[in-house]
Amino acid sequence: MIQIIETVREMQTFSESLRRQGKTIAFVPTMGFFHEGHLDLMREGRKRADCLVVSIYVNPTQFGPAEDLDRYPRDFDRDHRMAESVGVDVIYFPSNPEMYPPHYQTYVNVEEVTDNLCGLSRPGHFRGVTTVCCKLFNIVKPHVTIFGKKDFQQLTAIRRMVEDLNMDLTVVAMPTTREADGLAMSSRNTYLKPEMRESALSLSRSLKRAQERYACGDRDATSIIEEAKTFILSHPYTKIDYVQICDTATMKDAERIEGICVMALAVRVGNTRLIDNSVFGEPLEL
Ligand code: AMP
Repeated sequence: MIQIIETVREMQTFSESLRRQGKTIAFVPTMGFFHEGHLDLMREGRKRADCLVVSIYVNPTQFGPAEDLDRYPRDFDRDHRMAESVGVDVIYFPSNPEMYPPHYQTYVNVEEVTDNLCGLSRPGHFRGVTTVCCKLFNIVKPHVTIFGKKDFQQLTAIRRMVEDLNMDLTVVAMPTTREADGLAMSSRNTYLKPEMRESALSLSRSLKRAQERYACGDRDATSIIEEAKTFILSHPYTKIDYVQICDTATMKDAERIEGICVMALAVRVGNTRLIDNSVFGEPLEL
């Protein structure tokens, strides 16, 4: 039986009592509408602690005014069943007034690593993400938290926040879970019309091609990016937000692929904004 907790006070009391009993807590923050990628994070959390808490909260402060906050897919009953199937103990499911009561005015801003990529195309997004995660960590009091590499820049910002603010928890990163054809799983894939599927696959396919070039010794970021852009735009319905190669330490653009670099893509397919990435030299399971 999963316990559903909706208030800050009850969640904190629950976690505090577990901690007093010497029990460990793993935490997976999500916006719900689960897919196998979310479940893989939960399975990892299940292995790493006595108690597994998952939050479902579509956080308004990380959405821009023209974004999909209102139409973001939600299905609590389905999520509840899926969470139960992987052994989740608690779903933390707060309301907006519980998270942002009147007079709320405190935000956490991670600087350099959030400037580029989604930081450019979604102003204010990471400020919302780091703020809500900081709050959730204070509410759930986990020993370990699990994030997906699918949102690579988000993971980088969370790692920075945890280190910079001396938060006493371990951040675990999980590889991107993909459909059999290579499409990175995302709650937003539900927006894609069937005729757009092939176009959506241009993201993972261009990452695969970039990895092949890297494996052959090619280190020229500009030319790898150009090939990816041309390939993506050769598909109907596509509009590129960005295709970039960045140093993972700073998330600044790299001209040559040296040290540890990530290729990150954000592409609109119809009205759906998809992201994907791959770290050079790491296997891309396609
Ligand atoms: P979301 O509900 O989309 O905010 O995602 C919640 C968590 O699931 C984040 O840590 C994401 O990075 C992670 N996640 C989303 N999609 C995937 C995926 N395809 N594979 C692995 N993790 C994912």
